[in-house]
Amino acid sequence: QSAESITEPAPLNLAQQIAVSHGDGPILVIAGAGSGKTRTLVYRMAHLIERGVEPESVLLLTFTRRAAQEMLQRAGELTAGSCRRVMGGTFHATANILLRRYGHLLNLGPNFTIIDRGDAEGIINLLKSSLGMGGAGKRFPSKRVVMNLISGAVNKSSSIEQLVYEDHLHLTEFLNDFYTIADHYRQFKRDHGLLDYDDLLVYWKQLLVESENARVELSSRFQHILVDEYQDTNLLQAEIVRLLAYCHQNVMVVGDDAQSIYSFRGADFANIMRFPEQFPGTRIVKLEENYRSTEPILQLTNAIIANAEKKFTKTLFTEKVGGVRPQLAAAPNEAAEARFIVQEIQKHHQNGTPLTDIAVLFRSGFHSFKLEIELAAHGFDFEKRGGLRLTESAHIKDVLSFLRVIINPWDNLSWNRILLQLEKVGPKTVQKILNSVRQADNPLTALTAYRPAPTWRLQFEKLVDMLGRLHQPDLTPSDQYDLVMEYYSPIFEKIYYDDYPKRRRELEQIKALISGYGDLQSFIDDTALDPPEVGADAEGIRSEQRLTLSTIHSAKGLEWDTVFVMGLAEGRFPHQHATPGEQWEEERRLLYVATTRAKKELFLTYPKEMLGSDRQLLRASLTPFLREVSPGLYTNIDQVSARTPLQTGQYQQTTSQLRHPNVQSARITYQEGMRVTHAFFGHGRVVSIPGPRRIEILFDRHGSKILHLDYAKLEIL
Ligand code: ATP
Ligand code: MG
Repeated sequence: QSAESITEPAPLNLAQQIAVSHGDGPILVIAGAGSGKTRTLVYRMAHLIERGVEPESVLLLTFTRRAAQEMLQRAGELTAGSCRRVMGGTFHATANILLRRYGHLLNLGPNFTIIDRGDAEGIINLLKSSLGMGGAGKRFPSKRVVMNLISGAVNKSSSIEQLVYEDHLHLTEFLNDFYTIADHYRQFKRDHGLLDYDDLLVYWKQLLVESENARVELSSRFQHILVDEYQDTNLLQAEIVRLLAYCHQNVMVVGDDAQSIYSFRGADFANIMRFPEQFPGTRIVKLEENYRSTEPILQLTNAIIANAEKKFTKTLFTEKVGGVRPQLAAAPNEAAEARFIVQEIQKHHQNGTPLTDIAVLFRSGFHSFKLEIELAAHGFDFEKRGGLRLTESAHIKDVLSFLRVIINPWDNLSWNRILLQLEKVGPKTVQKILNSVRQADNPLTALTAYRPAPTWRLQFEKLVDMLGRLHQPDLTPSDQYDLVMEYYSPIFEKIYYDDYPKRRRELEQIKALISGYGDLQSFIDDTALDPPEVGADAEGIRSEQRLTLSTIHSAKGLEWDTVFVMGLAEGRFPHQHATPGEQWEEERRLLYVATTRAKKELFLTYPKEMLGSDRQLLRASLTPFLREVSPGLYTNIDQVSARTPLQTGQYQQTTSQLRHPNVQSARITYQEGMRVTHAFFGHGRVVSIPGPRRIEILFDRHGSKILHLDYAKLEIL
């Protein structure tokens, strides 16, 4: 993985040195993958501290907590340990720390609870029914769509109205309802001390804008701000950086616009272009040497990104000449694809490659299920990144609710969960109970005085008793967890009778986690900000013996000797629902991020048939992003065999036939088989419609080309 060796003879090239030893003032490092941006930040941090800057006055902002920890550790090795006092983490985690301290300036108590996306959607559901929306035959949009709009408006610095007009024209009739729900959602959070992820950024910015004191204090406390992966920040984050640097302008951001993969969450890679405008006098440094990958890998990755509609001006070269060309394997089906990957891993392992130097990357968490089974069957341990989160399951949320109300007794979302577990208690009764404690100074004490109905008195008393004991002084988080489980276990076994053993293993994972914490607040914050993944560290396997499975999004910034990118079939890559233009382009950048993780060997695989969303078998072809590059840039592996070959008759339609029966230019509808002529390539025949606004033509003299209908000048013959 991102193993940075600091014993190398030439740790920095000239451009990197310039960036590292830059004096004060804003600096932007914009460069392609593997060019040493992160390394430059690490050395910069070490350099600042050696220059006499106090570690406490450096703020490092990264995309994951893990990345920050690794960077701090590496910088620490360069500076004999004093980096431990640098504050480093994600934007959200930093917001959390600062808001607990300065939130009172915004009338925000220090005991707020951070809610995740699932909690937020839960609130939307509660509000939907309490406001009577969606009843009586009116098909109200799902909580997911409503939340996307509310969150999208925040992250894209836009409005619900604008988003509805842009992407959901058919929902305009609900516009007023969306605003009503959004208002109530805001009020609900305020009443109950809840902050969603977006609020963390919104309040942080608000704090810096509204409180001159806070702005000056924070800006003087953090004398130097360093930001990695700047291409994936949104407007709010860019504003926060600008305000934080208010007193000194000492900001270094590094990023690569060609690797921007979070625009679906409101990230805006134009931020990186706007940085010099935001900070006049910015020094711009470009890094052009790639130190990660061998030349054949770099040639392919450069070719993938060269086809992007927006041209990225960075050029990358490597001195790592020689090495194997990337290998492309078409497997007959998904099972065969998984088998092929495991066989290759086996070969590598036998030849002495440590498993930690191998990673398999895919688009979405569920794409690796077959592979996981195959790996387990062969006795390989793996660590999965970007998979299912522990806190997404109901039983984990249940347990966390008890712990959350200890800290924030106004958290009605959690009370709701807790009270609904009581037998014979439905949403109406829960509402009654919660209304009765609403005015109380301490809802917990008020609850004790509530008079339950005889049918559920016994259980209610048990609950109140347990909550009381949770408040005894001197309990560790782990003791508190045990108390909760004493109460919750019997309920849990009843509710989840079918699969409680599996769920219990997940609870044990929580138990193992919580025992590492000295205070409950940090545990609750961390589970919200950096949710543990299912299976992570559960079996106590040392991580040196594991290979990595990861979604591409979670592999950002990392590197391995041998990388497999799987599922490179059209329909999966780009994603079936990617719309023309920017979404399609983001998919291309995603493939660029995936392939640029490889140092020495890159395997690209896809199944020739796969299960579609409606559980039909679909014939699949190679992703257009790879069909577009010269086949000379990779080697085809042919001997991938299926154990149980399928009859061709079993195929349904091809994915392209299903999704794009035809495609239209301004006037003309193109269909497969049609003869066309192109100004430069001459005569040809339409062979497929690989994507929105795309057309694949087999030219009589120039071979197969994929063209964009908005640009290609075609005529029908
Ligand atoms: P990404 O865009 O994927 O985040 P990056 O630009 O941040 O990549 P790094 O991860 O910092 O690149 O560096 C890539 C690899 O190149 C690392 O293994 C790093 O140690 C190595 N490297 C960077 N600069 C040098 C150098 N000057 N000499 C030798 N190795 C280097
Ligand atoms: Mg990096």
